[in-house]
Amino acid sequence: IDPARFTEAMLAASGATLLENCEVYALEAAEGGVQLRSRLATVRAGHALLATNGYSALLHPSFQGTVLPTRAQMLLTAASPRILHTLAYANYGYEYFRQLADGRVLMGGWRSLYKDLEIGYTDETTEQVQRGLEGFLWERFPEVSRQVELCWSGVMGFSPDGMPLVGALRDLPCVGYAVGFTGHGLGLGLEAAEDLMATLLRGEPEGIFSAGRLGRASG
Ligand SMILES: Cc1cc2nc3c(=O)[nH]c(=O)nc-3n(C[C@H](O)[C@H](O)[C@H](O)COP(=O)(O)OP(=O)(O)OC[C@H]3O[C@@H](n4cnc5c(N)ncnc54)[C@H](O)[C@@H]3O)c2cc1C
Repeated sequence: IDPARFTEAMLAASGATLLENCEVYALEAAEGGVQLRSRLATVRAGHALLATNGYSALLHPSFQGTVLPTRAQMLLTAASPRILHTLAYANYGYEYFRQLADGRVLMGGWRSLYKDLEIGYTDETTEQVQRGLEGFLWERFPEVSRQVELCWSGVMGFSPDGMPLVGALRDLPCVGYAVGFTGHGLGLGLEAAEDLMATLLRGEPEGIFSAGRLGRASG
């Protein structure tokens, strides 16, 4: 799936208004709901949903200790002879790689050796991890091109047990959240979003991703 195109399609189908490059920096109780203060606008709403994943603790202190910002790094080589017909994992999932239809090879991981350095909000690649990814790939698959076309990183949100956290803020119950996807949000995000809508808007019981399972002051 191409996540950018997927998001664009959902946005077009929803008819919602999107304010881009617009950080929300305060959530306040307001009559009938919540007031959000942001860079471009102050918005009042009956409900708000936080989909801030790795950045959640910057917006609300209740996520400190439950959503840990954790960096992931990737690289993409130039087109190479066909070596893989499926996606592949190694080292208990810490390393992952697949070959695109055009022959380019995508590889990510190498975080396990630098766990402390890969925690935080800095969104940039590092020499150690990029050289590690290249070494892993070229040692095991010498056919793969030595030309790296792209490398990039992103901030993920890790939860204490590796599963998403869905719930509502204790101090502002009209504000729900679905965060802490722990590197698996493309697969789990839609289900978590449906759970959140069912609980927050229809008052249904919390589902399997309920943050209440942590048994402490989450949200
Ligand atoms: C390199 C890399 C590879 C990955 N590979 C996979 C994979 O193969 N499969 C998979 O399932 N997952 C993968 N993931 C994880 C996946 O990208 C995430 O789980 C998913 O993006 C989470 O979606 P989200 O919308 O909850 O959060 P994000 O995509 O992180 O989006 C959060 C958004 O909130 C915005 N935001 C944060 N704070 C504020 C604020 N205060 N005000 C306004 N906006 C704010 C951010 O700018 C961002 O746009 C990967 C992640 C990375 C970094």
